[in-house]
Amino acid sequence: MVVLAEYIWIDAYGGLRSKTRVFHNKDTIKLKDLPNWNYDGSSTGQAPGEDSEVMIVPRVIYPDPFRKNGNHVLVLTDTYTPQGEPIPTNTRAAAAAIFEAGKKEIPWFGIEQEYTMFKDGTPLGWPHSKARAFGGPTKTLGYPGPQGPYYCGAGADVAFGRDIVEEHLAMCLYAGLNVSGINAEVMPGQWEFQVGPCVGIDGADQLWVARYILNRLAEKYGIIASLDPKPIPGDWNGAGCHTNFSTKKMREGKNALDKVIIPAIERLGNKHAEHIAIYGTDNELRLTGGHETASIDTFKWGFADRGASVRIGNETREKGRGYLEDRRPASNMDPYLVTAKLFHTAVLDAPRRQSFLGIHLTKGPRKSIVGLGSKLKRASLGR
Ligand code: ADP
Ligand code: MN
Ligand code: MN
Ligand code: MN
Repeated sequence: MVVLAEYIWIDAYGGLRSKTRVFHNKDTIKLKDLPNWNYDGSSTGQAPGEDSEVMIVPRVIYPDPFRKNGNHVLVLTDTYTPQGEPIPTNTRAAAAAIFEAGKKEIPWFGIEQEYTMFKDGTPLGWPHSKARAFGGPTKTLGYPGPQGPYYCGAGADVAFGRDIVEEHLAMCLYAGLNVSGINAEVMPGQWEFQVGPCVGIDGADQLWVARYILNRLAEKYGIIASLDPKPIPGDWNGAGCHTNFSTKKMREGKNALDKVIIPAIERLGNKHAEHIAIYGTDNELRLTGGHETASIDTFKWGFADRGASVRIGNETREKGRGYLEDRRPASNMDPYLVTAKLFHTAVLDAPRRQSFLGIHLTKGPRKSIVGLGSKLKRASLGR
């Protein structure tokens, strides 16, 4: 028997890369048995040509839903220099340190990933351009009817690409991901899946693996699953990555809404610009204020308000405890940055006055966190 291990890592542009390693004479493999490996960083924008080796360290393994004829695995890794320092685009190392520092709070994340499927440059379900032999535009996109009937729609005239969405769900479940739902979104060809609730770093890890599975699956159909936050200009909501967040105190504390959740939201408001800076590229095209969620320059929170930056659902309001939804992150955001920043601002920042970048830790890769500062812009993803 052999075990195939697909080592996955994140490149300098927020894209996912992977390569296969064959383990001969094995029936199964455990995380601790998987060796570190390396790749050519000069081919992924992550290392100069003369010293191009980037080391990848296995962090989590999942059953491989693409190779079901055995105990094959997907291996999520993060990236280091040959000297063992996290490379600048390794946002996981910093996030893991932040979650480690505050693990008693037991932070949960539920992340809603919206995306748009394209075939031959056109979103699924969109009419092709009406080419004319003479006297008209031949390259403009044809337009479907306005948004309205597509969100959670059923029927061949409103739902496009469902087979892939269903297959993606089944594959994520096979891999052991804690996917909590899927739905069709407001634009034809646009869909959403949710991961969570997951504890700490696991939320971002699972989202990256779910994205990887989506890319690989779509590849089989010649389709691109785009994470562009405004894939088509005009009167469409765009694509976000709402991040739902709670701590044990928010979920269970007496009168947690007033005592913990609302003060946390106020701290988020005080650092609005810092958050927006790492919530994804091209987010200003989406957060205009005209299409759900407040404008990028404004911080506004509210109960059940989908026009707000941060929303508290009715259930949390009624029970007086629960979670908050940060609606600002763009579909292309880096979940390591977003979940760690949310946790840091809403919880760690307040009593202990730790800074996100220079966080005081007794152990852990402090250097990499300091180094993250100048790289934040680059690290927030654009595709
Ligand atoms: P929406 O109504 O905004 O579309 P969704 O149902 O798409 O919400 O997503 C909500 C997400 O929040 C799910 O992933 C869910 O698992 C997660 N969630 C539920 N409870 C909590 C909680 N206490 N803390 C964090 N996330 C939670
Ligand atoms: Mn949703
Ligand atoms: Mn949605
Ligand atoms: Mn939402």
